[in-house]
Amino acid sequence: MTAVKRIEIRTPFALKRVNCYYINDSVPTLIDAGVNTDESFEAVRSAVKEAGGTIEGLRRVILTHAHSDHIGLVARIARLSGADVYMHGWDTGRMVRREEGSANLGERYRGFFLEAGVPKAMVEQTVRSMSERFRRFYTAFSGEKLLEGEEVFPFDDFSLEIIHTPGHTPGSICIFNRVDGTLFSGDSLLEKITSNPMAEIRSPTGKVKYRSLGRYLASLEVIDALPVARVLPGHGPPFSNHRRRVKELYAHHRARMEEVIKILKGNNANSVTGSGVTSFMVSKRLFHSLEGIELFLGLSEAQGHLEVLHDQGLVFSRKERVQRLYYLSE
Ligand SMILES: [Zn+2]
Repeated sequence: MTAVKRIEIRTPFALKRVNCYYINDSVPTLIDAGVNTDESFEAVRSAVKEAGGTIEGLRRVILTHAHSDHIGLVARIARLSGADVYMHGWDTGRMVRREEGSANLGERYRGFFLEAGVPKAMVEQTVRSMSERFRRFYTAFSGEKLLEGEEVFPFDDFSLEIIHTPGHTPGSICIFNRVDGTLFSGDSLLEKITSNPMAEIRSPTGKVKYRSLGRYLASLEVIDALPVARVLPGHGPPFSNHRRRVKELYAHHRARMEEVIKILKGNNANSVTGSGVTSFMVSKRLFHSLEGIELFLGLSEAQGHLEVLHDQGLVFSRKERVQRLYYLSE
């Protein structure tokens, strides 16, 4: 019998723990690869051993998305095991190919912060702190095999299907066992945490603008329709009743849209007064004070909702010099 073991790993981040899953099969498989620390590596090694395997014996690593707490150990594990590493092609932009490249990931965000209306001094400080974070927790890796969605991975007793669920990141996937209803949800569906629709600084979709929150809400619909019995998430213990959770998330985002509209009204942000708001102003009203990566998450949240409202025709935006300003439609 193929067994699935949940491995819970401590992280140095706000989300204190992250899961990866070891599937003890004739093709030993790991879903996600923890955070890049020695402690995390030891946790994975001893859990895999407990389940009757070894790191060296791994043949497959499937990554639910390319965030540092889910891909941290992938280079180390692939080097030791020679396992095939799979991830969705839309997340390859987040991979670091050479060690020295990790700090540059932070630099890429400068333009995003300026357009969001973040004061210059704060931009520099934030870019520095994000670069530092990337340097510490992203490791260089290349050679991954790319997924598109709908691939099926056979195991001894079941198969797992890849379902592309963009939103939290463009290349986020869920991995589904259609027979027993087990869904490895990555960070696309968490029981206690609202997945942040992270803003994308480089569109993975080419000319078509990638909208994180819009994509995320569409992905929730896909997840909602699946016959899920049990969710094995990227953070926290397994849970069931995925439809109730999807409903809660829809309600949360609806309430937040209304909050954003109120903020725009409160600022008289319309074409008559001409005083638009930036996503930084909106995020400050939503979350008060934010720093470092939290600032990026807060801006992603504000921008995500502004973009959905834009696509519904309720809000329009205009770029004025470097900043993007949002207004209520008449
Ligand atoms: Zn994540």
